[in-house]
Amino acid sequence: MRALICGAGIAGLTLAWHLERMGWHVEIVERAPAFRNGGYMIDFYGAGYEVAEHMGLARRLQEVRYPFTELDYVNRGGRRTSGFVLPPSFRQVVSLLRGDLARILAEEVRAPIRYASTVEAVHQNGEGVTVTLTGGVQTTVDLLVGADGAHSRVRELAFGSEERYVRYLDHHVAACILTDPELSAQVGQRYQMLTVPGLMAGAYALRQDRLALLFLRREADPTLPSDPRETLRRHYGDLGWILPTLLSRIPADLYYDQVTQVQMESWSRGRVVLLGDACQAVSLFAGHGASMAMAAAWILADELAGTDLATALSSYERRMRPTIAEVQALGRRFIEWMAPSSQLRIAIRDLMFRLTALPGADRLFLNSLTPGGHNLIESRVDQLPRS
Ligand SMILES: Cc1cc2nc3c(=O)[nH]c(=O)nc-3n(C[C@H](O)[C@H](O)[C@H](O)COP(=O)(O)OP(=O)(O)OC[C@H]3O[C@@H](n4cnc5c(N)ncnc54)[C@H](O)[C@@H]3O)c2cc1C
Repeated sequence: MRALICGAGIAGLTLAWHLERMGWHVEIVERAPAFRNGGYMIDFYGAGYEVAEHMGLARRLQEVRYPFTELDYVNRGGRRTSGFVLPPSFRQVVSLLRGDLARILAEEVRAPIRYASTVEAVHQNGEGVTVTLTGGVQTTVDLLVGADGAHSRVRELAFGSEERYVRYLDHHVAACILTDPELSAQVGQRYQMLTVPGLMAGAYALRQDRLALLFLRREADPTLPSDPRETLRRHYGDLGWILPTLLSRIPADLYYDQVTQVQMESWSRGRVVLLGDACQAVSLFAGHGASMAMAAAWILADELAGTDLATALSSYERRMRPTIAEVQALGRRFIEWMAPSSQLRIAIRDLMFRLTALPGADRLFLNSLTPGGHNLIESRVDQLPRS
């Protein structure tokens, strides 16, 4: 069997790994001109970590992880106003750069990645799906997988325009990595965040004198700015803390996007199937996207191993959907915690965090954020293959 995977990200690479080992012939196309390094910090745990363990990657993940045990909220003068020390059970969460996770996956995938390329046209019939790639190259495969993120090109070609499926969560997000020994030492390896109503800026020190930066801004208009760096300077420039220095140094490869979830009635159409953020984006507010992408890839591979294509694609969707709906709801509830919209909400958050210093209150607080008292870091996908 032959598959073309569009998107060499977390979902696409995980699926490639599994399909190759099942004897499939796999091709991968990736829009970026070269491998996408760095990016932003992610917390990785639960189902995704279970999949990584199954793939034999746990040791590599432990090597590249960052120790994240503490979150501090600071004011404009850089003084701590509240914060949170993670309870020991939450320290199994692996904090790492998205790029490091993708690289560890890519190192284990044999299929060549065709960079600076995407899917330009799709034509399918009962026999196969013929895909035209950038530059006019054509290939015919049994299955086309759209693992090309929340703004998926494959989804647009096979299912229609993104307005039908993408739910905008009223925020813009930006992230980048900066090298600055002084600031990196000042911030240290604890997440420092500054919030004012509608704006959040966060920093975390990385190895090699670097810093991972994250900016979240409440914005009713989903239209992306033509100059994201100028937009950041305009909104965050007078907030104090370390921001004036940071903002003068924002690199050109800044990640900037809308914060979105993806919700669709169906994840496949004939021989085209969507995977990861392309069909199930939960948003950074939910903090499970990479984990869910890997779980979905494993489940899709598991189904493709067993039965005919149509049954496999519908079973994959049936097994993943309930968890995705639950995690998406969790993400929407989390918005006001991560990016409070008013001074009152910031004050309530600070109070809650101060209360978590009381014995046992930290765990109670974290569990209260999840439906049915589920532990945030449990697998959440009880349908993972057990073989
Ligand atoms: C700031 C931020 C913080 C986050 N924090 C967390 C977290 O703490 N924990 C967590 O689990 N998740 C987190 N996420 C979410 C997580 O990164 C995603 O859910 C996850 O990467 C989804 O995997 P994916 O493979 O579907 O998409 P991606 O990893 O984004 O990969 C998609 C790939 O497709 C490529 N591509 C895009 N368009 C095309 C095209 N037209 N043709 C070919 N290739 C294309 C892209 O270049 C990319 O390589 C966060 C996301 C953001 C933005």
